[in-house]
Amino acid sequence: MSDPVLRDTFGRPLGSLRISVTDRCNMRCRYCMPEDEYVWLPRESILTFEEIARLVGVFGGLGVHKIRLTGGEPLLRHDLPTLVDLIARDARITDLAMTTNGLLLAKHAAALHRAGLKRLTVSLDTLRAARMLTFAKSERHGDVLAGIAAARAAGYDRLKLNSVVIRGFNDDELADLLEFGRANRAEVRFIEYMDVGGATRWSMDQVVSQREMLERLTGRYGRIEPIEGDQGSPAPAERFRLADGTTFGIIASTTAPFCRACDRSRLTADGTWFLCLYAAHGVDLRERLRSGASDDQLAALLRDTWQQRADRGAEERLAVRARGALYPIAALRADPHREMHTRGG
Ligand code: SAM
Ligand code: SF4
Ligand code: SF4
Repeated sequence: MSDPVLRDTFGRPLGSLRISVTDRCNMRCRYCMPEDEYVWLPRESILTFEEIARLVGVFGGLGVHKIRLTGGEPLLRHDLPTLVDLIARDARITDLAMTTNGLLLAKHAAALHRAGLKRLTVSLDTLRAARMLTFAKSERHGDVLAGIAAARAAGYDRLKLNSVVIRGFNDDELADLLEFGRANRAEVRFIEYMDVGGATRWSMDQVVSQREMLERLTGRYGRIEPIEGDQGSPAPAERFRLADGTTFGIIASTTAPFCRACDRSRLTADGTWFLCLYAAHGVDLRERLRSGASDDQLAALLRDTWQQRADRGAEERLAVRARGALYPIAALRADPHREMHTRGG
């Protein structure tokens, strides 16, 4: 019997889609948007909610069951709960989540939850307001903390916190972030600093590897056990447990990437479909949508494209000697689709 699941050349299914709803952001994290000026996607190119929901329907028919809304900062997109509601109505989407920097979360958490957003990840790299000001050019650390509290009050009891760990910036806060997560009943995911487009100041010596993070945390907490069952799953984080039961994850995308199990692709706010975070080119779905392609025609395009997928960008980066920033600034300016904040994290 033929396999009903759509698979790429490495046998990886198309299971999850990250949708960037805007390329704009109200923060300027040094690892993502360190420059003074950016080239934005033209406003008329941004997909409407109806266009996004239609594409979700087509992806859903091909096996996508996990959707994560991201950006840029997704909460800058006006009326986001309306989009959440449209997507949540599709019974094939069993996991609907969002990643946010939290600045606007206090205002929107309850409405998002009511609209059907099941899971939330808030990015929190530091517990020190002054560090956030230097590193992300934002004075609003208090708003992030208020957003986390509001999310808990709105009913998000499986909250996750993303912390990109950078040597010399926040690598002395691993334990503090874990303690904060424990106190707020949120699970921390430490992320290795990645050399994605946008990270124009990236260098290997700033990367704190998964191994080093575990060594440091073992020094503080004693034995750390891996949580079995997560290896080989398409989820990028490996999870661990401290002796007191506190769990956390590490996303080792730089030193131990998980491409072999990657079932993710990404849709930019202007409808460009990328099969890998590192892919040089994407497929323009907006042009097809707006020139009258039927759902069947769109599905055929997605199917053919996925079946030819051979991307393993982060693994290929491992082989690069003298590894530095992925793109020079001029290349990012020439095509903003190369930026992490356009592609969605
Ligand atoms: N603005 C939202 C936020 O920050 O949560 C959503 C978009 S952001 C691009 C998604 C995730 O990508 C964030 O958790 C961020 O920390 C992560 N990220 C951005 N640049 C990164 C880099 N160079 N290395 C590792 N993670 C990165
Ligand atoms: Fe920071 Fe997210 Fe904005 Fe990038 S998109 S600058 S990670 S808040
Ligand atoms: Fe997937 Fe590409 Fe990331 Fe590898 S680098 S895990 S293939 S998105």
